[in-house]
Amino acid sequence: MSVSTVSTVAADQSVCAPLPVLGRDVTVPLVTGGEVAYAALDYAASAPALQRVWDDVAAYAPYYGSVHRGAGYLSQLSTDLFENARRTVAEFLDCRDGDQVVFTRSTTDSLNLLAAALPAGCQVFVFETEHHASLLPWRDARVTYLDAPRSPRQAVETLERALADRAPYGPALVCVTGASNVTGELWPVRELAAAAHAHGARIVLDAAQLAPHHPVSVADLDVDWVAFSGHKLYAPFGTGVLAGRADWLREAEPYLAGGGASRKVTRRTDGGVDVEWHDSAARHEAGSPNVIGAYAVASACKALTEAGFDTLVAREQYLVAKVREGLADVPEVRFLSLFGDDAPRVGVLSFVVEGWNSSHFAAALSAEYGIGVRDGLFCAHPLVRTLLGSDPQTQGECGSPEAAPGEKSLNAIRVSFGAGT
Ligand code: PLP
Repeated sequence: MSVSTVSTVAADQSVCAPLPVLGRDVTVPLVTGGEVAYAALDYAASAPALQRVWDDVAAYAPYYGSVHRGAGYLSQLSTDLFENARRTVAEFLDCRDGDQVVFTRSTTDSLNLLAAALPAGCQVFVFETEHHASLLPWRDARVTYLDAPRSPRQAVETLERALADRAPYGPALVCVTGASNVTGELWPVRELAAAAHAHGARIVLDAAQLAPHHPVSVADLDVDWVAFSGHKLYAPFGTGVLAGRADWLREAEPYLAGGGASRKVTRRTDGGVDVEWHDSAARHEAGSPNVIGAYAVASACKALTEAGFDTLVAREQYLVAKVREGLADVPEVRFLSLFGDDAPRVGVLSFVVEGWNSSHFAAALSAEYGIGVRDGLFCAHPLVRTLLGSDPQTQGECGSPEAAPGEKSLNAIRVSFGAGT
């Protein structure tokens, strides 16, 4: 078994030119001596920022000013940029009239914000296959964890059954990913949204892996909310988005209490304090917001729209096919999928090399070939363990013991592509 099959793939890219991203010229040392151009094949973790986004941020930097606070020229300019960024994101997501776009720190933050805004008694339905960011924030609600489906149709049927059987019948939220961060497989979001609504539930789409690869239309998919992260969408770290229906957000206590979220604060005669909170997205954006981050996300949204998702998708699909082809005659390699190897997917692919510890394999790819991939359970422990067929109690994150020859691997390798690969 050799890892060289993978290294040849990164060099062979004839579909269309990649978009310029940061880090293209980075070289890394090899254990065998010398240096090699780094091949980042870990876009699903964090995508390098687009050069264009970086340039836009640099052009804005001299005008740096606090938003929503000052009458000074630069403060007003920053406020405009921040609010325009909100509009750009709303357009990118094809939001409905009246939807709110809240800037957060990440997808994780967005889903925790929504979890904090659930109405009393809300039940949450989530597949066990979700990333931990979608699986775990609902701790204060009554959560039903749904078993891993083996086809998109089974996903819809499983959800329908669970929603129909819920008791008492009250507010409910379904949280589902658009594209798996483990298998890259696309989930039947429109059908799941229809099922949720038919049973009086709402649905939030975790688009962390979908939005960088596919157009996401809130209106067309008919999802109630969508969440994504800037750093997976070719913008720098630290910014995320929660966009969608205003009502639950408006009725909830602010996610963070502080300036910016409050419209009016008055001292009461009994010595206490009364607060009127904003009804707008600002309600959940207390504190000085990450205006540069929001601006960068908006810049990335524009860049992707202009580049065209068709072009980006064609390129990623080509690269996925090349990896499959390159590994096809390595008998120890097993690709991970829920819906079958041919199911539609974004440019994300996971596999195990039976008998190998995936962490060692990934380390060898980096040290010997300068290829950066991800290894482990990808913050989706239940899903990866199901796909590996391993005991739920077995250790399996990075650094787990090597599987003995003939035994099942305890963790996996993920290769993921994006606009710059
Ligand atoms: N959802 C999915 C499907 C993801 O892949 C990730 C990150 O890998 C997240 C949510 C969490 O994103 P973040 O770490 O940016 O909050």
